[in-house]
Amino acid sequence: MRLGFDLGGTNLAYGIVDSNGALLVQDGIPLVEKNPEAVVELMVTIYKKMAEQFEIEKVGIGVPGIVSQREGVVVILVNLHWRMVPLEAMLKAHIHVPIQVGNDANAACIAEVLFGGMAGYQDAMLLTLGTGLGGGVISGGKLLLGSHGAGGELGHMVIAENEYACNCGRNGCLETFASATALIKKYNMLNPEVPVTDAKSVFDRMQNGDTMADETVDWFCEHFASGIVNFYNLFAPEVIAIGGGVAKAFPIFESRLKHKVQSRLFSKDIHYGNIVAAKLGNDAGIIGAAYLDAFL
Ligand SMILES: [Zn+2]
Repeated sequence: MRLGFDLGGTNLAYGIVDSNGALLVQDGIPLVEKNPEAVVELMVTIYKKMAEQFEIEKVGIGVPGIVSQREGVVVILVNLHWRMVPLEAMLKAHIHVPIQVGNDANAACIAEVLFGGMAGYQDAMLLTLGTGLGGGVISGGKLLLGSHGAGGELGHMVIAENEYACNCGRNGCLETFASATALIKKYNMLNPEVPVTDAKSVFDRMQNGDTMADETVDWFCEHFASGIVNFYNLFAPEVIAIGGGVAKAFPIFESRLKHKVQSRLFSKDIHYGNIVAAKLGNDAGIIGAAYLDAFL
């Protein structure tokens, strides 16, 4: 059995995962105190409680920030105001089984390749569309981490000039076109009188014949397709899965997105990977965290 933690900005989700990727236990605890010491204490308490019931062989933590997985260090975790936190070392003082600390999108990608929508592939990518755009790359059966262990930040690839800047300070990052935030922002610029507060409403309005919603989804697909073709050219994946909250609307924008991708392909003679919906939903975070060592 493995114990996976999915650390969020307000909540610590965790679960016991078996060798088939099934969650035997799944729970979450609100983060009252957010400093590293308090979060480590919480994790150790959960580990000890779970270890009474299960033989835990490995522990993994998925973190929504920049992580040097090889060093086990959280470099930046904006939501919790963490910088250079040696999370693995802090946990090792209390937990005496192998521990991996990694990025949460990488974890979700691993889960989808082991047990989900990309099962069996060796060259696979996950793109998660939520508040921002996260992602993970498995290339030749290896998780792409880069020299500093924090590579694969796919959302900050500049695609085109945008009407507003990215949180990272640059203008034109993919996540400013392809994310729930981007869909909401774009639609509300076109229709400030009757704004939306979530991405689902944009798709709902599009299906009800709202031309501004249609224009928003078209703009989103246009730029997302540019990003996907860049990823095809860079990583040549056999498959790309779309995850995150926006993925629920995948059947609505699938054909439009694929058409725009087709029109941008570098070569008509290469077989480019299919684009599919991720299967595991939010569970991918915990399951993948427990298997962060799978493609090292
Ligand atoms: Zn950016």
